[in-house]
Amino acid sequence: MKKTLPFNKTQIEEMIKQYPTPFHIYDEQAILDNAQAFYQAFDWAPGFKNYFAVKACPNPAIMKKLQEIGFGADCSSYPELLLAEKAGMTAEDIMFSSNDTPAEEYKKAKDMKAIINLDDISHIDFLEKNAGLPELVCFRYNPGPLREGNAIIGTPEEAKYGFTHEQLFKGYALLKDKGIKRFGLHTMIASNELNADYFIETGKMLFELVVEIKQKLDIQIEFINLGGGIGIPYQPEQKPVDLEYVSQGIKKHYEKYIKTNNLEPLKIFFECGRVITGPYGYLISQVRHIKETYKTYIGLDACMANLMRPALYGAYHHITILGKEKQPSVKEVDVTGSLCENNDKFAINRLLPDFDIGDIVAIHDAGAHGYAMGFNYNGKLRSAELLLHEDGSVTQIRRAETIDDYFATLNF
Ligand SMILES: *Cc1c(COP(=O)(O)O)cnc(C)c1O
Repeated sequence: MKKTLPFNKTQIEEMIKQYPTPFHIYDEQAILDNAQAFYQAFDWAPGFKNYFAVKACPNPAIMKKLQEIGFGADCSSYPELLLAEKAGMTAEDIMFSSNDTPAEEYKKAKDMKAIINLDDISHIDFLEKNAGLPELVCFRYNPGPLREGNAIIGTPEEAKYGFTHEQLFKGYALLKDKGIKRFGLHTMIASNELNADYFIETGKMLFELVVEIKQKLDIQIEFINLGGGIGIPYQPEQKPVDLEYVSQGIKKHYEKYIKTNNLEPLKIFFECGRVITGPYGYLISQVRHIKETYKTYIGLDACMANLMRPALYGAYHHITILGKEKQPSVKEVDVTGSLCENNDKFAINRLLPDFDIGDIVAIHDAGAHGYAMGFNYNGKLRSAELLLHEDGSVTQIRRAETIDDYFATLNF
């Protein structure tokens, strides 16, 4: 997909006067339009909901906007539960999909009446002892050898998440004996997956399970949650997942398995993060140094503390030099940050137009798992986050960290 920007160089130059680089900027209207399109694609599905994965972009200013159009939040830690609460989400607007979970987090989720999604059969007991069993319980299923995985999560058998097939049935039976009446079923076995058929297959897999659970245990599952993991086209030659196509494919299986077996209503949930905000966030940075040795290194004022994906996964992030959009890509360079880590590079052997010191660059598709993965290694401070409104104005929705923030936790 052709990489474009929702702002121009002049606009960014104005912003930099007030908010020094590096910073993240999110395109509010594009996020909301995209979120709405997700809902429209599934308008046939009663009670359809996407629980926005908070970890992708943990900023309540954005979560609030998503909540207004019917999104929930998918949380996996105490602070994420608090973020959801402060963004105005309550009770079953919140899905708590955690793993290796501490007791106090289950307790908080239970107090909030969030949907608790258990990652392991032993957690039934753990939850009961530490927080008491809630009215509605969901299990995370890991199909193991029954499904192929993908690059980021790996093959399901190697993934630490979820119940086996056998444990799933044991777990539901146990809860039924304990008097629980409301049940959900969850899975997430792919991350950044661009193959639309993968999600249709996951829908089918869960519908088949819903039928099997009904037949074997006489338990009616209330919702299935297909997890997150819908990918985005980081590379210009990649195509976005066609959500209409995914929806229609899932609908076909819904009719075949759920309707014909009289298992309606069954709600369909997702907990996508990346596909909601990822393409609509940009890391803005300036060229600090240009270094010529065995290669040409373009040193930015951002580093992997602002965007870790290239270093962590070797991920491609498109880079545009503002004002040079039309210039030919003539130079092969490495675009680096300033960490004392040689993998602190945003691009390796990338063909780009000629750089000058002071050039402003936009690193694309940084709206999910971007700022969120930030850290303080090497004394780096986390950047600000700005929200770009439709009229071109911006609101700072998180200020940059200061040296005082950095020292605040020290005692010497
Ligand atoms: C990370 C995660 C998500 C969101 O994944 P995306 O790739 O951002 O859609 C959803 N659910 C769970 C349990 C996760 O761990």
